[in-house]
Amino acid sequence: MAERLIWDYVYAYDPVPQQTPEFNKLHKYYENLHLERLTTTKCTKCEKISWPPRSVCPECMSDEMSWVDLPEEGSIIVVTVQESGAFPGFQAPLIFAMLQFGDIRFIGKLIDVELSQLAPGKKVRLKVETQYDGRVLPAFTLTGN
Ligand SMILES: [Zn+2]
Repeated sequence: MAERLIWDYVYAYDPVPQQTPEFNKLHKYYENLHLERLTTTKCTKCEKISWPPRSVCPECMSDEMSWVDLPEEGSIIVVTVQESGAFPGFQAPLIFAMLQFGDIRFIGKLIDVELSQLAPGKKVRLKVETQYDGRVLPAFTLTGN
């Protein structure tokens, strides 16, 4: 029975977050993505820049945050491929990379690239992926693509 519940959950899970103010305190992140801007939060008290964006500063617990843009260009640290097990609505294989944008390092999805084009140090930029219902997710592509 428990196994059945897990599968029901997997198929009911929506991997694209709700992005409007009534459902998400960090809706500004998605509004900025719609404008092709990759942003995160900066604490106005201690100036710590967080990733992912946060509504409360993990350093000083202040909830006074502002939005800052990440650099337009980042670089690849390492690449991996997800060959199977993609969530419904996503087509495997999926290419992911550890990316560095300024001081911030995170895992991002790469789109419109061939695996043979990718290597550590290659430069990438934001390329917003719009879902069937208009919601957006951050994705990345090589600069020049
Ligand atoms: Zn702070």
